[in-house]
Amino acid sequence: MSELAALIKSMIADEGPMTVERYMEMALTHPEHGYYMNRDPFGAAGDFTTAPEISQMFGELIGLWSAESWAMMGRPDPLRFIEFGPGRGTLMSDALRAARIAPEFRAALDVTLIEASPTLAEIQHETLLTAGAPIAWASSLAETPEGPAIFIANEFLDALPVRQYVRSHNRWRERVVWVDKAGRLAFAPGRQPEPFIQAAGEEGDIIEVCPAGHRLMFELASRLVRQGGLALFIDYGHGATSIGDTLQAVRGHRIVDPLVEPGECDITAHVDFAAMARSARAAGAAVFGPIDQGDFLREIGIDTRAQALCERSPDRAIEFEAARRRLVGKEVGEMGALFKAMVVANRNLPAPPGFEGGALR
Ligand code: SAH
Repeated sequence: MSELAALIKSMIADEGPMTVERYMEMALTHPEHGYYMNRDPFGAAGDFTTAPEISQMFGELIGLWSAESWAMMGRPDPLRFIEFGPGRGTLMSDALRAARIAPEFRAALDVTLIEASPTLAEIQHETLLTAGAPIAWASSLAETPEGPAIFIANEFLDALPVRQYVRSHNRWRERVVWVDKAGRLAFAPGRQPEPFIQAAGEEGDIIEVCPAGHRLMFELASRLVRQGGLALFIDYGHGATSIGDTLQAVRGHRIVDPLVEPGECDITAHVDFAAMARSARAAGAAVFGPIDQGDFLREIGIDTRAQALCERSPDRAIEFEAARRRLVGKEVGEMGALFKAMVVANRNLPAPPGFEGGALR
């Protein structure tokens, strides 16, 4: 049993069942035993692989996208360039390298990385030692420097804890984690009904809400309205709000039971982009997308970039083409349709590159 499982069981013994939200939060970011807090989870040797770890093209294109967005903003100097949940720092490193072809943009950059994990912050520090830009770390949006900004977040929202409500005996009840008769962690509907949820549902249906995501969207959108700029979110999830349990745990590139070894596996939930967009709009920001990651990357030039890399290093052409396909392809096992891109922006800005198709909904 993981140390965190033992801790959670003793908390349940003392205080009663724990909400799924609290469980997910502890599993990921408990200061001592949380999954992200003391490990490097990425890559073939780790638990999962993200787009910037698949190919340098991903961060490079986002760097160039940011340079174009900065020009659209009227070239503010300094530009706060802020990333949520930067992992190993790979995306930022690739973005800053690609931005060398836009020297004025690069010179305007003041970078802040928002990271909860001291271990990952240390790895980011090493990755970015030679990046040649001023970089600071923060643990929340509130700690970041004020002013016009571009925010980037890849696979960050899916790590924010969700609340779940389960339809049980004709009522919605908050889903909780308790200890069953065999001494294992198990899900159950909470005792008290939650009459504030009005949705129709059948026995066993599950509704998810991400309060931390809503708070972040509202706070971020308010800042963009006041101080200018935009935020790019890329994540896996659904465009329209729907019913269902999307809580998923991954360890060693395999799906595992989220209750078996909390703290030892990554736990995520699908991002409800429509719900996130509602909170951003409620704060007065414009929202573009969500659009498929594949369409976004194509629009901003991944095909041209892949071709240039293949021409420069023909011996690696197969590798570049495989990475390009994995990022934009829409077949099972590819990321192009599973992942979506969405932008939250100050209303004075036109549609950012890749989103010229218009603001949806
Ligand atoms: N963007 C990176 C990593 C994604 S994993 C990539 O694409 O490779 C999620 C990242 O968010 C990790 O760096 C994790 O430590 C960080 N994180 C998770 N919850 C957080 C929180 N509440 N506040 C700040 N960072 C958080």
